[in-house]
Amino acid sequence: MQPFTGSFTQQEPIAEEAIGAAVEVLRSGRLHRYNTTGSEIGAAAELEKAYAAYQGAAYCLACTSGGYAMATALRALGVGAGDKVLTNGFTLAPVPGAIAGVGAEPVLVEITPDLVLDLDDLEAKIAASAPKVLLLSNMRGHLCDMEALMAVLDRHNVPLIEDCAHTMGAAWNGRKSGSFGIAGCFSTQTYKHMNSGEGGLLTSDDPEFMARAIMLSGSYMLYERHGAGPAADVFEDIRLDTPNMSGRMDNLRASILLPQLAGLETNIDRWNARHDLIADRLRKMNGIYVPHRPDAERYVGSSFQFLMPEVGAETIREVVERVRALGVELKWFGAAKPVGFTSNHQSWRYMPAQKMPRTDAILAGLLDMRIPLTFSLEDCAHVADIIAHVVGQTLQKGAA
Ligand SMILES: *Cc1c(COP(=O)(O)O)cnc(C)c1O
Repeated sequence: MQPFTGSFTQQEPIAEEAIGAAVEVLRSGRLHRYNTTGSEIGAAAELEKAYAAYQGAAYCLACTSGGYAMATALRALGVGAGDKVLTNGFTLAPVPGAIAGVGAEPVLVEITPDLVLDLDDLEAKIAASAPKVLLLSNMRGHLCDMEALMAVLDRHNVPLIEDCAHTMGAAWNGRKSGSFGIAGCFSTQTYKHMNSGEGGLLTSDDPEFMARAIMLSGSYMLYERHGAGPAADVFEDIRLDTPNMSGRMDNLRASILLPQLAGLETNIDRWNARHDLIADRLRKMNGIYVPHRPDAERYVGSSFQFLMPEVGAETIREVVERVRALGVELKWFGAAKPVGFTSNHQSWRYMPAQKMPRTDAILAGLLDMRIPLTFSLEDCAHVADIIAHVVGQTLQKGAA
């Protein structure tokens, strides 16, 4: 086996068009989103308008990060100290962090082997915890049955905030991820679907909610300079009742995101071609389970996951080490200590410990891989071959 030499953390360069737009903002000196002259619309406001249109949302707020978007959504919904917030047992640290950031308490819900929220456990946790909201994490781009989810939430009157850090551009039965609940939260951090280094987008159709979010983001009394905000009269009382918790996006970041948004659909096709090539190759293997993707789901294959459900920790460790020796980086969510971006609920000791037997059993066999667009289709075939080779050999050795 030839080793693979590509970098799993290397994103594509920022396109010349975006660099040109950024240089223009730099030359203007007007980087702050409210530093506009006359009727000029700054890049941050332009981005809000363009992203609201892309998402099919009435309103959009550009802010500093995906984590900030989630915390702001919770605050704008009135979630505060001591409130219970449901979220997935399998997610990344900024999600429970956003909940803890508003003083609320995360209540974890089990996931299924397809890496989505377990709706039966959701119903049980709703009954047991009287939650203020579900902060649904569409972790690694896997969508649960959104219609079934909404039926459960509607039945119990639990509002929904969607963490769409991995589902920007994804949809369920043609409806965009992020448009099912009161708010969708997106990240434009380097490793997500658009890259401004850091950045976040919050979308909603609810005018009062969005007015509170805009005030929270630190808009002073300049909310009329937003690109996709509610009418001024909605702010009448809200502007005096809502604290300023600075988290604005600047025009520099927004200027490099605008051209990327125009190319997002093309990039989704490129990601899915890479993802599907790897998934199709590995789905056929014994000892591997590739999570099922329902027909209703339009996913964005910016990463790939598979499970080795029938083997112990030793075997998984061996697979991870042997693919690494051949240049392939697999993250194992079942590792005893968090490594890099892998994170599981046992490493969030600031919140009450929770028994998650089904999620733990799934994470114990879950392997995860980034798919950067700098990989060609040939690169992806090479990576899949290495994984297939190592898994095959390791399992054979175990059986011998
Ligand atoms: C990256 C990420 C976030 C938050 O994004 P930041 O912009 O880094 O704050 C939220 N949820 C998930 C699942 C993520 O991976």
